[in-house]
Amino acid sequence: MRDLLMIPGPVEFEPEVLQALAAPTLGHTDPAFITVFGRALKRLREVCLAPSSQPFVVSGSGTLAMELAGANLVEPGDRALVVNTGYFSDRMAKILERHGAQVTQVGAKPGEAPSADEVETHLARGGFKLMAVTHVDTSTGVLAPVEALVKAGRKHGVLVVVDGVCATAGESFHQDAWGADVYLTASQKAVGVPPGLALLTVSPRAMDAWRKRRTPVASVYADWAEWLPIMEAYEAGKPAYFATPPVNLVCALDVSLGQILAEGMEARFARHQRMARAFRAAWRAMGLRMLPVSDAVTANTLSAVYYPEGVDAALVGRVKGQGIVVAGGLHPELKTRYFRVGHMNRVGPTDVLAAVGAVERALIAAGHRSEPGAAVAAAQTALVTG
Ligand SMILES: *Cc1c(COP(=O)(O)O)cnc(C)c1O
Repeated sequence: MRDLLMIPGPVEFEPEVLQALAAPTLGHTDPAFITVFGRALKRLREVCLAPSSQPFVVSGSGTLAMELAGANLVEPGDRALVVNTGYFSDRMAKILERHGAQVTQVGAKPGEAPSADEVETHLARGGFKLMAVTHVDTSTGVLAPVEALVKAGRKHGVLVVVDGVCATAGESFHQDAWGADVYLTASQKAVGVPPGLALLTVSPRAMDAWRKRRTPVASVYADWAEWLPIMEAYEAGKPAYFATPPVNLVCALDVSLGQILAEGMEARFARHQRMARAFRAAWRAMGLRMLPVSDAVTANTLSAVYYPEGVDAALVGRVKGQGIVVAGGLHPELKTRYFRVGHMNRVGPTDVLAAVGAVERALIAAGHRSEPGAAVAAAQTALVTG
């Protein structure tokens, strides 16, 4: 029996995407590949709703996407504000510091997000070059009030970097309309491509800030100066080489982005919301509590759920025994106390019911008192009415 992978990345991928990985590898300057790469770059802009942006597609994971933003936008001594909602915000602070930033953090208790007003109080004191926000913090399932935060950053003239690794193409985001400067992600989450690609869309304002640097970027591989001519060449239909692109992954990206755009961004965001609501109804029906403290800060791309009384991390193995792969906790303070279910990319009602059913069976087997079928019924009701 093949398990269904429902962790917060990697996720289940579409057959057409996987077929692109299995195709004979084209040369990276083959005209057919140049066409595919150029189209993938254009499609990335559309998926991020960022027509004015410069897209970058680089071999690496989401952490490299974070590092690309930090390495190119921070110079030693620059001040940066990190809106901290968990594990990946900590990582962003570390990256910015490594590139010389003086980092101020605005945090919140696990499960909460700082309000835009609170963040604005810091921004109003002035002096920040950059603000970093984790759109969905995968360690807590917290969705930041990203639109208000981006707009606050814009108002105070700071560059706003949004880590969308667990959000891009799953959570509503309008990069150009809201005024975000960098939206960064990785291939293996809601973008729907196996791990291996760092993806960024960068605003003209951020490209300008990078051009005005006084000091060189402290990494050759991460330097936009190396990658910009490559991205521009591929988009213009010309061959170029800096470092060999992961040809098959780029082909797979083009296929997945094409599927995403065929669904339509608003329809896709709405589907993720509907599936998330069905999961929330199921957790409630089983008397489970989620980490995010309110619906307003609950992600639509994953659920982070506390184990009930008497149940521990062995639940993850029990759920796998029922055919669904879920993840344990990740937040350093709480990681033994909750589990996570990813619901990104092509997740539909069938997957929701299968996952809820597996968690319900595993919980009952672990001794949790819950009426068999109550969670599945609650999810079904939400799917029917939502
Ligand atoms: C997964 C994730 C990352 C890291 O991505 P990798 O591909 O594991 O390097 C960064 N930020 C967020 C919000 C994530 O969910």
